Amino acid sequence: MLNPLLVAKKIFLDAALVKDHKSLVKLIVQRIRTALSVDVCSLYIMQEGELVLTATEGLAEEAIGKIRMPPGQGLVGTIAERQHLLNLPYAEKHPRFKYFEETGEERYQGFLGVPLIHHGDVLGVLVVQVKETRRFSEEEEAFLVTMGANLVASQAASLKRSTREERPFTAHEVRHVRGLAGAPGVTIAKAWVVRSDIRLEDISVQPGSGLEFEKSRIKDSFDNCLEELASEGNTQEETLSALIEVYRLLLSSPELHAAIDKHLATDVSASSALKLAMLEQIAIFDAVEDPYLKARADDLRVLAARVYRHLQNLEPEVINTDEPIVLIGENITIEHFGRINPALIAGVASNQGSTLSHTSVLANALGIPAIVGLQESNLSAMHHAQVILDGHRGILIANPPEAVKEEYQQVIKQNQARQANLAHLKSLPAESIDQQRVNLYSNTGLLADIRPGLERGSEGIGLYRSEIPFMVHNTFPTEEEQVRIYRKVLSAYAPKPVVMRTLDIGGDKALPYFPIQEENPYLGWRGIRFTLDYRNIQLDQIRAMLLADIGLGNLQIMVPMLSREDELLRIGAIIDEAVSQLKEEGHAVVRPPIGIMAEVPAVIWMLPHLRDHIDFVSIGSNDLTQYLLAVDRNNPRVAHLFTPFHPAVLRAIYDIARECRRLNLAVSVCGEMAGDPKAVLVLLGMGIRTLSLSAYKLPLIKWLIRNIEMRDCRLLLDDIIDLPNEKEIQKKLEQRLDEIGFTEKFT
Ligand code: PEP
Ligand code: MG
Repeated sequence: MLNPLLVAKKIFLDAALVKDHKSLVKLIVQRIRTALSVDVCSLYIMQEGELVLTATEGLAEEAIGKIRMPPGQGLVGTIAERQHLLNLPYAEKHPRFKYFEETGEERYQGFLGVPLIHHGDVLGVLVVQVKETRRFSEEEEAFLVTMGANLVASQAASLKRSTREERPFTAHEVRHVRGLAGAPGVTIAKAWVVRSDIRLEDISVQPGSGLEFEKSRIKDSFDNCLEELASEGNTQEETLSALIEVYRLLLSSPELHAAIDKHLATDVSASSALKLAMLEQIAIFDAVEDPYLKARADDLRVLAARVYRHLQNLEPEVINTDEPIVLIGENITIEHFGRINPALIAGVASNQGSTLSHTSVLANALGIPAIVGLQESNLSAMHHAQVILDGHRGILIANPPEAVKEEYQQVIKQNQARQANLAHLKSLPAESIDQQRVNLYSNTGLLADIRPGLERGSEGIGLYRSEIPFMVHNTFPTEEEQVRIYRKVLSAYAPKPVVMRTLDIGGDKALPYFPIQEENPYLGWRGIRFTLDYRNIQLDQIRAMLLADIGLGNLQIMVPMLSREDELLRIGAIIDEAVSQLKEEGHAVVRPPIGIMAEVPAVIWMLPHLRDHIDFVSIGSNDLTQYLLAVDRNNPRVAHLFTPFHPAVLRAIYDIARECRRLNLAVSVCGEMAGDPKAVLVLLGMGIRTLSLSAYKLPLIKWLIRNIEMRDCRLLLDDIIDLPNEKEIQKKLEQRLDEIGFTEKFT
């Protein structure tokens, strides 16, 4: 018999090629039937509380979708209820056996069924049957159990999708389509479904018409593309121009051109070389764990389609509208944004893309609601239909019924009123009812992030993630280039403070030009550990920060992942050296305040030893939670365990806050907690008065601060700090948010 893991792997590989749910489940039952040499393999999926026959090889096809049983009924229901397999030589003799005429099942006696369990719940049941009266062997049993576990591990999301969602819909039909929240906001407008670009995979590989000729075609197309980008980048819209710059960098990458030349040398056409080289580059980005870099693979696809259009002299689609529209398509790109007046884009929704793709980044920056990862292949039927786009929940509703539309119109009105209500907060201080002042800073990384903070009254940058400019490059950026980038950030905020964190790569953040392969990357060569080993890279970065700060004086430097005194002494020595080198070179630089992230739990007890070498501490609640609870912050399997409301995490943060106060050290929080209203109540109760968060959450948190008393937060902290679990803690915090009217106003 075949190895179940190998069969499972083959299924997963082929699953990537199938287009819909129906083909996926068919593929699964076909492969398992062949691997086990059985007469029947069937898959039942839990839908609305019933196990529904979703695919079968062997039973009558007509039974698909019709055979349904609740847990507890029939053999399949019994397996689901007990969450335990059944291996029966004579299925008919089991007291729970239920006969369904539609299946033609009476011919099969040997029965083996295993439950498919996902996060403790039954997702479905996998069944194999044979004609003869026999009990399945232990080996077969083990195969099916292993197969089931592997299927759940890799395909749970696809399997859960109900078969109903796959049915193509017609132009006027009401349709709910799910996706991922790309950018917040709700809108109702007419849909404009954009033409899909050619898929790289669909370009056929053809012989060329001579190396020199094909080379010149490639060159012309790239030049035209770069020219086109340059004119699109010539815009007042900072985010758009910054992102177009990234596109230009990707298009000019020497690796890409070397790969194209390599393929052209094999006498293929320019389009073929483009396809082969782009697919290679895309595979490199796709293989990286980091979601930000993975998203760059999408950018390459967009660029490839653009170059291909130039190669083939194809005209771009004209989007002709004078009323606001929701742009919908397989992939909505920066190019689409450039083809229409941005004021007319009410929303965007695309099949491709992730929450970190450029579509989302741009939509966020422009304040346009967006959905990515849309689970609907038949988009064309939506063209010109009225749609509701809910960017908070990632839901698109085509041809909504009047009642739903009215409900959403109500939501939009409330949102507008709220925003209007919150807009005036921009110039008001974040001060509690009992007149205690809080500093509200924003977190940034891309140049494109600068503006949203300023527009919302951010009082500075509490965390500039300097690794992001390093990640969108093909080499380590030079000192000059870094100076240019940092200067833009520092001068946009001056004289408000900007806390620049030194390079924090490793863990989930990889550089495309410097792959780090480790068994346990979160516990490995990350942050300060990496940069102390590459002293030259660290020195360049600090020199660039100091040079960028000349004449501004608002720079503060922060060190990530620190856990030891010697690390602090060594980075301090690098900063001193950078200062003295630059002074020697005639630059009027000053040594900025230096701080550390409190994100490795060891820091809690190290603060007295570090005190004399630092000016401030910023609590990185994301990593602090990850390391305290031993829960990977990016692993969906344990995502339910990743919570900063765990009593141990709150206790750790409380200890850091108290220790900083005792040592007279400034302390802030810059992890996601700082933007969570429930957490903010606790942090304020602990005496923390500086928070750095996503710019979009700033008005909300400011409203909260202005509507509470710090005395109250202090009492609330006493109420929750000894509770035994996050559930009870969050319940109390939610109650408090209800009492001050926050919930009613904002949810
Ligand atoms: C943190 O760990 O809380 C933090 C702010 O840093 P990052 O999310 O960049 O690791
Ligand atoms: Mg961190």
